[in-house]
Amino acid sequence: MAITKKQSTELARQVFEYAPAPEAIDHVKIQPRYGLFIGGKMVAAHSKKHFPTINPATEKTLSEVVEADEVDVDRAVKAASKAFDSWSHLPASRRARYLFRISRLLQERSRELAVVETMDGGKPIKESRDVDIPLSAAHFFYYAGWADKLEWAFPNRKPSPLGVAGQVIPWNFPLLMLAWKIAPALAAGNTVVLKPAETTPLSAMVFAEICMQAELPPGVVNIVTGAGKTGSLVVSHPDVKKVAFTGSTEVGKLIQRAIAGSGKKLTLELGGKAANIVFEDAPLDQAVEGIVNGIYFNQGHVCCAGSRLLVQESIAEPLLEKLKRRLSTLRLGDPLDKNTDIGAINSRAQLEKIQGLVESGIEEGAELYQPECVIPERGFWFPPSLFTNVSQSYRIAREEIFGPVLSVLTFRTPNEAVEKANNTPYGLSAGVWTDKGSRILWMAERMRAGVVWANTFNRFDPTSPFGGYKESGFGREGGVHGLLPYLELN
Ligand code: NDP
Repeated sequence: MAITKKQSTELARQVFEYAPAPEAIDHVKIQPRYGLFIGGKMVAAHSKKHFPTINPATEKTLSEVVEADEVDVDRAVKAASKAFDSWSHLPASRRARYLFRISRLLQERSRELAVVETMDGGKPIKESRDVDIPLSAAHFFYYAGWADKLEWAFPNRKPSPLGVAGQVIPWNFPLLMLAWKIAPALAAGNTVVLKPAETTPLSAMVFAEICMQAELPPGVVNIVTGAGKTGSLVVSHPDVKKVAFTGSTEVGKLIQRAIAGSGKKLTLELGGKAANIVFEDAPLDQAVEGIVNGIYFNQGHVCCAGSRLLVQESIAEPLLEKLKRRLSTLRLGDPLDKNTDIGAINSRAQLEKIQGLVESGIEEGAELYQPECVIPERGFWFPPSLFTNVSQSYRIAREEIFGPVLSVLTFRTPNEAVEKANNTPYGLSAGVWTDKGSRILWMAERMRAGVVWANTFNRFDPTSPFGGYKESGFGREGGVHGLLPYLELN
């Protein structure tokens, strides 16, 4: 029996109590202190400096990791250089075998990795369990398949590896970004030195154990923890031949300047301010789910987040009504609870950045909507939020907030949608919601964005290239394109 609109509104207003459903953590062993992963084993650091990594949902210290110095980074690069000769000459099918093995071990240890990722980064367990870890394993699996087929990937060319790759990754998808970086580099025959982000080093430490379990030859993968300074030492080391960075546009520019003229190959995957565009013929309920997934997934800590909703004026009212109703059903709280939709903000610094930008939105005249929501006493939290009455000149419409905050703008014609969507220094992703295939193609042709999703959002696959235009960076990760930055084609 169909229900009336009134009944549906009443149902939506009812508060459903969910019993806590916490993920077990007793199978996870986080060590109180980690060393550096250099030359195939965990070693003590030269720097002798450690810093804590905390659980952003509780503010409790989980472990301590090394702040690697120049000597540590040099040791890691030397270990990678030494390993390069034999690794790059290994029969490609043997390299593939190691990658398959890593992929299998990631799957075997997926429950443990999901918990570590959630505790160290604050993301809901259902996301780390269903997205981060399976996709990380899939990346190794996919690139394992390419390792012995490079000459088919680039016909009539002779592909050869570059040497040591220096890789610096952010805190929003720690293991997944590690996989995006390490899998293609190894498949192409390079060795790596990777620096995870300061606030989320722990899944990389588990990955170091996996490399040992997989009996990966010593020095093929090296992991040095630390802050921005350690990252800059990695990218500027003279023996690093290729730099891969994901993070803020600001640091991306610094790196580009630091290595200019050095001959190092560089790929940058930087920020974004994606438009998620909903036309009046779109299926509204699906679009609402896509908007929620686009901006509230991983607390909005997503470079390709659909942080600007462009909605056709004729449907703005009903869409916003549905969206607000949906927001009130999102559950914020313990990231280890399987029912949680919105976890903790990754760090106090990030929370302050989000708060600052939201305040600027209010001051500039936008209207803030936040559903009622109980904020836990400890930890870093921000409720799912949306702004209406947003002008394109406001900071919240221009700058990457990297939090669960949506700016809603309207448009009348497809041309206006394109103009507004492209009116940003970024160009990483976009979403189009419409019933018409021809309109999807028309829009995709005009959008200056590396990825354009149609009637979906935030969908990833290892076979599909990902990367940006303009200030969102250059180079592609994923797919055959993701091999190119790690190869010289003769
Ligand atoms: P950063 O760009 O500072 O961090 C990314 C990585 O680079 C981290 O491992 C970081 O180390 C390292 N790093 C920092 N400075 C340098 C340097 N000079 N040379 C080499 N490596 C360096 O991002 P933040 O964590 O500071 O976040 C700031 C903002 O950046 C966010 O609010 C968000 O807007 C954006 N961001 C975008 C991401 C994306 O995927 N596009 C990802 C993360 C952030 P450390 O962790 O120690 O700082």
